[in-house]
Amino acid sequence: MAVSSEGVWIVDAEGKRYLDASGGAVVVNLGHGRAEIARAVAEQLGKLSYAHPTMFTSPPVEDLATALSVHTPGDLNRFYFMTSGSEANETALKLARQIHQARGEHDRSVLISRWRSYHGLTMGALAAAGRPAFRVPFMPMLHDAVHIPPPYCLRCSYGLEHPSCGLRCALALDETIQNLGPKVVSAFLVEPVSGATLAAWPPPEGYLQLVREICSRHGVLLIFDEVMTGMGRTGDWFAGCRYGVTPDIMTLGKGLTGGYLALSAVAVTQEHYAAVEQGLGAFSHGGTYSHHPVGCAAGLAAVRILEQEKLVERAEAMGRFLGQQLREHLADSPFVGDVRGVGLLWGVELVADKKTLRPFARSEKVAERLWQHLFEQGVILYKAVGLAGVDGDALVVSPPFIINQEQITLVAAAIKEAISEVL
Ligand code: PLP
Repeated sequence: MAVSSEGVWIVDAEGKRYLDASGGAVVVNLGHGRAEIARAVAEQLGKLSYAHPTMFTSPPVEDLATALSVHTPGDLNRFYFMTSGSEANETALKLARQIHQARGEHDRSVLISRWRSYHGLTMGALAAAGRPAFRVPFMPMLHDAVHIPPPYCLRCSYGLEHPSCGLRCALALDETIQNLGPKVVSAFLVEPVSGATLAAWPPPEGYLQLVREICSRHGVLLIFDEVMTGMGRTGDWFAGCRYGVTPDIMTLGKGLTGGYLALSAVAVTQEHYAAVEQGLGAFSHGGTYSHHPVGCAAGLAAVRILEQEKLVERAEAMGRFLGQQLREHLADSPFVGDVRGVGLLWGVELVADKKTLRPFARSEKVAERLWQHLFEQGVILYKAVGLAGVDGDALVVSPPFIINQEQITLVAAAIKEAISEVL
């Protein structure tokens, strides 16, 4: 039972301290116990606790949109606020359909996404998800997505190598769009850096640029799911910026308030939003807790902390140190097949055979066992399973941006110790 938290630490009912090196579910970007956010939330609750989103906007909603638009790339400067990452992705899918409808392209309904992906717990987001464990229990979907292989070079679906592969996995998008027929596809939904499902896997060089070009050529909207990667996690404000690629729609969640309140957002370009306004009058969507003034006050306070304490820059610097430490501590381990990441989002892929990269079988529960051992030692990580289909395990290291070098070294050493104890 967790009873208190401060900085990078969570304390349980027995007084035991845990180093939160996963930031919960890759959420706690600013660290725990921020008095500034508590104050902003309390002040907002005292001023205006709720106003229905179809009747009013409010200062925190407008101010958060303005604050975010300073950092979002291109003209991605119109926002819609919801409460969870799942809802943000649902909102993005509906928005994409309405953008096409507003332009008279009523047949554009198909969503393309990637295998081994996760986009949320609701039915539309699950249709986009590419991990069988998430999908199969809910088949048939209301409207399933069409899936293409991810750019997971370590276990390439085509058995090729980058860059001689010519980015075959991105060309699969072009092929799929053409096979489905002209003006049938609505959007391609993708995480620019794969978070939980591929354990912090960055895109190979040129991948995002190529999918951007393919989408633009076919009039398909490119949606970046930055629920996990946004708000500085990858060492840039948004992962797309890191690779110089701007999507048509971007979703945010998790780090938007750093875990202090439930808030998510969809950002869309001014140009697409204007098309919806012109063609349909307005975006047809709305929930009881859309544009919540208190959630947005927490989000605004979080953005100000990122800016004032230069925490995005810190995520980049500490991330480099974390990568170095993980590699130094784990390079010789016979059970570590790969260490990769960007910013403060790193993955340690565990393998049964280092030479062939043969993954551990799911039944061995390797990530779970390591996670449990580390938890008992007071270090919290995030686990990823099913990287090679049903098999394949990894640990994700994604601490708050305020973590220091001493704590990073402690985490890397703890993983090393756990692997030698458990495996
Ligand atoms: N998208 C990605 C990439 C995620 O990692 C998650 C959650 O882990 C979601 C969407 C769903 O967000 P939420 O759990 O807030 O609904």
